Amino acid sequence: MIQEKRDGGLSYFTAASLEGEKNIRHLFTSRRGGVSKGHLASLNLGFSLGDDRENVVENYRRVCAVLGVGIDSIVPAKQVHKDAVRVVTIKDTGKFPPEPSRPDCDALITRDKGVTLAAFYADCSTALFYDPVRRVIAAAHAGWRGTALAVYRKTVYKMRTDFLCSPGDILVAFSPSIGPCCFETDSDVPEALVGAFAEKAAAFIEKRGNKYHVDLTGINKMLLMDAGVSGENITVSGHCTGCETDLFWSHRKTGGKRGVSGAFIAMV
Ligand SMILES: [Zn+2]
Repeated sequence: MIQEKRDGGLSYFTAASLEGEKNIRHLFTSRRGGVSKGHLASLNLGFSLGDDRENVVENYRRVCAVLGVGIDSIVPAKQVHKDAVRVVTIKDTGKFPPEPSRPDCDALITRDKGVTLAAFYADCSTALFYDPVRRVIAAAHAGWRGTALAVYRKTVYKMRTDFLCSPGDILVAFSPSIGPCCFETDSDVPEALVGAFAEKAAAFIEKRGNKYHVDLTGINKMLLMDAGVSGENITVSGHCTGCETDLFWSHRKTGGKRGVSGAFIAMV
């Protein structure tokens, strides 16, 4: 489980495993502690959701103050519900804000200090990765489409091929995301997941009447372990964005009228 922290009016979450790493800064935001108004109140990190740009920038400033990083160090994933994993460097920083043309991918990896990787969620899963031996970090996003494409497993594979990471060394922490309690779907989602992973995914899908309840966290943890990550090195959030709408953004529970949260990680 990740733990709630408060600092400067901000409510955010951290994983004890990553917090124990002195060279790492990381956090998962909630919807509390920002300056956005109305249905975006208050910590919205999306520039394209109808918010005032100044409010979004101030929200980022507050997050960066807690992280102890500069706002221009942020390199955000574009998040297109696919499985591209990109390596970024210090040359990709300095473009934020305003929101730059983001790398067209759902997962980012770097070994450069001074780069703050960001992924975003409002029901979808995001995950932060750190290899303390090779000193490589990653941030990735997976909704059900990205899960079916095994984007987290592919992130581990790229850390291994490009940076010689041993999967057994990698620490992973999941953001809050929609739980099986609230992630009710038609048959398209289970068909995609079972089509991709057969019975390994079926164990995380429950049929209730004509609908299905899907445990995306369970499937993503299984995929990480499939890639060689140790179960004890994976921290799940223990929070459902659909159940805790006062604390987190939920796309489903708000009908899409919502802000977005961020998962951030940087090496210092
Ligand atoms: Zn729920």
